[in-house]
Amino acid sequence: MEPFQGDRASLPRNMIENTMFEEEPDVVDLAKETPAYPLDPDDVVYEPRSSRLLVRGLGENDMDEDEEDYESSARLLGMSFMNRSSSLRPKTSNYARQDRAGSCSVPSTRTLIVGVFILVVAASVAMVIYFLPRCTFTKEGCHRENDTMELIYPRTSDGQLFPWTSLRLPDNIRPVHYELEIQPNLTTMTFNGKVSIQVNILNDTKMIVLHSSDMKIINVAVQSKKATFLEYKPWQQIAIKLTKDLKKDESCLLEIEYSANLSNKYMGFYNSSYIDKGHNKRVLVATQFEPLAARNAFPCFDEPAFKATFRIKINREDAYIALSNMPKNQTIKLPGGLLQDEFEKSLPMSTYLVAFIVANFSHVSRNASDTLVSVYAVPDKVDQLNYALDSAVKLLEFYNKYAEIKFPLKKLDLVAIPDFLAGAMENWGLITFRETALLVCNQSSLTDKQGVAAVIAHELAHQWFGNLVTMKWWNDLWLNEGFATYMEFKSVDTVFPELEIGNSFLSMRLRVLEKDSLNSSHPVSTEVSTPEQVEEMFDSVSYEKGASVLLMLSSTMSEEKFHKGVTDYLQKYKEKNADTEDFWKSLPLGKSYSVVEIMKTWTLQKGFPLVTVNRTGNRVTLSQEHFLFTADPTTKSEYLWHIPLTYVNDSCGSEPDCKQMFHLKDKTASFDVPGSAKWLKFNFKTEGFYIVTYEAEGWDALIYAINNNTEILAHEDRAGMINNLFMLSRVGKVSFRQIKNLLKYLHHETQPAPLMEALIQLDQIYNLLEKRQDTRQLSRMKAYILDLFGGLMDSQSWEEETSISKQELRSDLLTVACRYFRENCTKSAMLIFNQWMESNKTKRIPGDIMKVVFSVAAQSDSGWETLLSTYKYSMVDIDKRKMLVALASTDSVRRIVWLMQDTLEGSNIQTQELPLVLRTVSRNFAGHLYAWNFVKENWDTIIKKFPIGSFVLQDIIMSTTSQFSTERHLVEVQYFFASLKDKGSEMRCVSEAVETIKLNIQWMERNPDTLWN
Ligand SMILES: [Zn+2]
Repeated sequence: MEPFQGDRASLPRNMIENTMFEEEPDVVDLAKETPAYPLDPDDVVYEPRSSRLLVRGLGENDMDEDEEDYESSARLLGMSFMNRSSSLRPKTSNYARQDRAGSCSVPSTRTLIVGVFILVVAASVAMVIYFLPRCTFTKEGCHRENDTMELIYPRTSDGQLFPWTSLRLPDNIRPVHYELEIQPNLTTMTFNGKVSIQVNILNDTKMIVLHSSDMKIINVAVQSKKATFLEYKPWQQIAIKLTKDLKKDESCLLEIEYSANLSNKYMGFYNSSYIDKGHNKRVLVATQFEPLAARNAFPCFDEPAFKATFRIKINREDAYIALSNMPKNQTIKLPGGLLQDEFEKSLPMSTYLVAFIVANFSHVSRNASDTLVSVYAVPDKVDQLNYALDSAVKLLEFYNKYAEIKFPLKKLDLVAIPDFLAGAMENWGLITFRETALLVCNQSSLTDKQGVAAVIAHELAHQWFGNLVTMKWWNDLWLNEGFATYMEFKSVDTVFPELEIGNSFLSMRLRVLEKDSLNSSHPVSTEVSTPEQVEEMFDSVSYEKGASVLLMLSSTMSEEKFHKGVTDYLQKYKEKNADTEDFWKSLPLGKSYSVVEIMKTWTLQKGFPLVTVNRTGNRVTLSQEHFLFTADPTTKSEYLWHIPLTYVNDSCGSEPDCKQMFHLKDKTASFDVPGSAKWLKFNFKTEGFYIVTYEAEGWDALIYAINNNTEILAHEDRAGMINNLFMLSRVGKVSFRQIKNLLKYLHHETQPAPLMEALIQLDQIYNLLEKRQDTRQLSRMKAYILDLFGGLMDSQSWEEETSISKQELRSDLLTVACRYFRENCTKSAMLIFNQWMESNKTKRIPGDIMKVVFSVAAQSDSGWETLLSTYKYSMVDIDKRKMLVALASTDSVRRIVWLMQDTLEGSNIQTQELPLVLRTVSRNFAGHLYAWNFVKENWDTIIKKFPIGSFVLQDIIMSTTSQFSTERHLVEVQYFFASLKDKGSEMRCVSEAVETIKLNIQWMERNPDTLWN
């Protein structure tokens, strides 16, 4: 998937129903009671790998691999039952422990007597016993050392034991092919479905466990014979009882008929609506399955490694069209008047990539390398499709060539959906987009077009990285998202050099360094089990750090070798699944290093290193340490990275050939350089994922050098130096005086990247001071920023600008200038706005300054009202988003509160825009406390719309709390999230928010008075 367009810090995700831990799992301790109906030990059978049965009473000294697995299962189920007193267990628990203490012993006769009195329960237990898969724990299992081991099964809502004990499905059954027929009703907002799944049996079994969520199952048949099933809703699983054992290597047909409501969220099979030009409400239905919502549309084996082929049939009314992953095979008329579209059989693919849409859309199409590429949108916006079609065709040709495997489908659709939470979703052959990520007018700015091209490039990359080769499990999500993000920049840079995407990539790498400096960050590859944890993987570490380490690797081993490794990897794993190590092993070995050894240190450890360079004469001594935004020594880790360090010196500083390399694997190392070198600069072009500081005269020599001649280093190096100094100052390793010393050179700087980096960093400090209303410090900081940038701000033109990097710089400079009420800026903005009004809104405002112009205008009553009414009826979504930012920038508390409420309700403003509204409101002093209050007061409603752990919630939490810097706010934030319990208190982003506030407090205590010394 792709993050929100134009806001890479926010990766909104699709949603999943979070019923997982609505009730805290609990345990009935039956061990101390004689079980009413003990299981026959010979029948207590399960799969050691996949069942992950919960155990207790393990001896401390006899842990083996399986037992570690059990422990992780306990964590996975959120239980800390190991230390609980059994007497405290309520009898009404959702769980029951099945006793196998006697292991091979004979069942107690007492239980038979009791059984007469509770016959119904007995029948249930007997059924479960019968369900259990045969094998593993029968004879061999009886001889295991841990006699106290007990099995625990959850109870279904009607009190029956559910015969499976893991969130992961058993691996003894593999789906091979799905036949799926879906009939949505766009009037009643319901749908009916029929799915037939051909499965192969890998090990003997008595049951089939698969996923299903929020649907009414009408009929289940196995091999055409009616079968019974149990459902355990918290885990979204059903278990189907087999009338006879299925044997290894057999194949079996499973058929399920069901019905369900169309979702009113942004996940599963959901309904969407929009208002057309004639002010009529139109409806449509679309899917969003990644990561865990295919199970909301049809019962399935909803894990990425269960690849299968699909043949999909959609029944629809004549007024709509239907689209799915594959080309349409035929349309037939059904009795009753509906039409049925049947789509061709797909390639083997994961369930999260299945997609279908029923809507009244228009499209444009073109052939490219034997694939029919089409772009779809609502009919009123058909004139905004051409840029996307052009871009998609060119990018498809790029990827066909780069991957050395041709796109395997005969058609590729790109569809703009009116209600869509993520930026886009890479469903194979049917990519769905938010309208702002796909639709642009001819006159839209290059910045807008860059955004669209980048999202298309990301999703097309996924057609190979993710769809053709898929990660085995969500712990390696970065293999999908890091790769797609890396390829997005690479492809756009190659195909559309005029879009100058390199600066965006650089800025992205610098931002994610900051995020990864928190102690609450996580490794790129992280174990995940629960739905919340899976959702949390969709964050900047998977996307942006993933892409950053790939860049570092490709620049270390050379792009040609990297490319060769990538194509080998695609070839070897196509139509299959792979993990991180599979990828590393596909890359060619270096002369002096192993890719696996280097990259393990970057993907299995959180954070990144700070390299300290100390040079005396020709001797350079290096050391590395984990860089963390904290001065607390107890949080320091002993992590070491294998760093492919690059460096240049004054004899050759800015050309690719100048780059030299040293592999720093240990804590310290040293090497020699020519004594005549005046300076050394490490991390050439900021392509490595680490930061550098220089001792002795190192910084001074570099600063002196770029003051004399900025071009002596590449602009990426200059931006990197600025970033690194700010990072170092936050942990007290350099003083603000040193930053000021470096920034003096900015008067000679002409390149956008270093200027924007300095502006972003200083503006962050300004924002922090502003929220504290420290007026003395605030005016001083403002004066300093305007001293550095004022001249540049005033010299910006307000006309159309053709260079995209100049557009980006202008947009940043004017945004800050107008927010600081610099008169030149606000006057020019109002002038442009008035001209726009006088032209009856027909005079085009350059796209890159539209947000600035509207934000200034929105400060007046009439400007705000005008923008709101224009917003409601505009058909150009990419401009609407700029209007919305302006509306949310108002200082009027009444309007801020109305806007937040309206967006949550989805009345005038779509609910999908809530993160953007809250982020914008939080940025301004006037609204930031209201935004936080709004989140607290509406939490229950918010989590009904956006799932716990999702990037939308991460974004909402971080944006509404990250500018607090007082103890009072810290306590308030901690208290609020702790009170949520299972409604979000465990999210990683809550730790990030708390850590960020603590760091702000620390910064406030240490810095303001020393800033100007
Ligand atoms: Zn993606």
